[in-house]
Amino acid sequence: MDEGSERPRKIELNDGNFMPLLGLGTWKSKSTSSEQCQGAAETAIAAGYRHLDTAHSYQNEVELGKALRSKIQQGIIRRQDMFVLWCTYFSPEDIPVCLNKSLSDLQLDYLDLYLVHFPVGLQKIGDELFPMKDGKLLASDTDYVDVWKGMEALKASGKVKSIGVSNFSIPQLERLLSVAKVPPAVNQVELHPYLVQSDLIEYCKSKNIALTAYSPFGSPDRPKEMHRGNKDPERLLEDPVVGEIAAKHRRTPAQVLLRYHIEQDIVAIPKSVKPNHILENTKIFDFSLDEEDMRALRSLNRGWKACILEQLENHPFYPFK
Ligand code: NDP
Repeated sequence: MDEGSERPRKIELNDGNFMPLLGLGTWKSKSTSSEQCQGAAETAIAAGYRHLDTAHSYQNEVELGKALRSKIQQGIIRRQDMFVLWCTYFSPEDIPVCLNKSLSDLQLDYLDLYLVHFPVGLQKIGDELFPMKDGKLLASDTDYVDVWKGMEALKASGKVKSIGVSNFSIPQLERLLSVAKVPPAVNQVELHPYLVQSDLIEYCKSKNIALTAYSPFGSPDRPKEMHRGNKDPERLLEDPVVGEIAAKHRRTPAQVLLRYHIEQDIVAIPKSVKPNHILENTKIFDFSLDEEDMRALRSLNRGWKACILEQLENHPFYPFK
């Protein structure tokens, strides 16, 4: 990536580690072919990305591992230049097992950041990633506070450098912080102008928990079953206000939506498998949005979420009530 931006490209986490502000999202990257996922990661590394966001449930770690290995062997990156993140299964005893599987698939011996993917876990039934009965996901009753103890042990082992959470609400973070020996370094949540979440941002900042914005474009390629019919018409990348701001800065809507997070020191992890998009999404460090732009973007807030996991909505730990 070009140097010379007015803002640093990494943020410091509460444990002293640093995290790049831009990462490559990889959910759905394997939907067409495994080569597509490996190719996207290789293109991204060549374009300057030093942060890959993956998860066991995205089923693409082997491909990402191949991309990392090939770029390390070509001398383009060193392991220590890369920030690789993974999300867990949910029961405390499974955490080290899952980590080892992931490390082996990714061909790595440590991860930079490891997250509890969701405050509600799923039951462990064989190797099922999404255990179901009668068409319903089977949630577990494991308490995320117990899971966190397993995460703290992993950090102590050195196999993960930083630990964090994803999709946690303010009350859940409060409860976790009241018992944690190691506070979460990161909360990865859905954030974009249709879901501004000012309270959550303010709370995390006040507790020195960094935020990562997932689905920064509103996840237009999310699976059909996650669309909610006519109640779900939002197309953030096509929003006229975003378009006007993009035209004003001679940028694309995607770049404006990513810069919106950079202005707030929030990490963004756009997913793409298209080389032109992957490159376009890096060009966000050489322009800024002014207060008027930020106000206009925030005014689009409508509390709209792309990812709601409504099958779990009756669980006591469901975070999006
Ligand atoms: P995004 O909001 O990143 O949108 C991805 C879509 O945007 C794809 O269709 C992609 O198409 C398109 N796109 C990418 N760049 C551009 C561009 N410059 N112009 C136009 N379209 C573009 O969706 P995701 O939901 O994938 O979120 C990003 C990442 O966040 C995930 O991949 C995953 O890593 C993480 N995530 C984490 C969750 C959690 O619970 N912790 C939940 C959801 C996501 P194309 O590929 O063709 O470029």
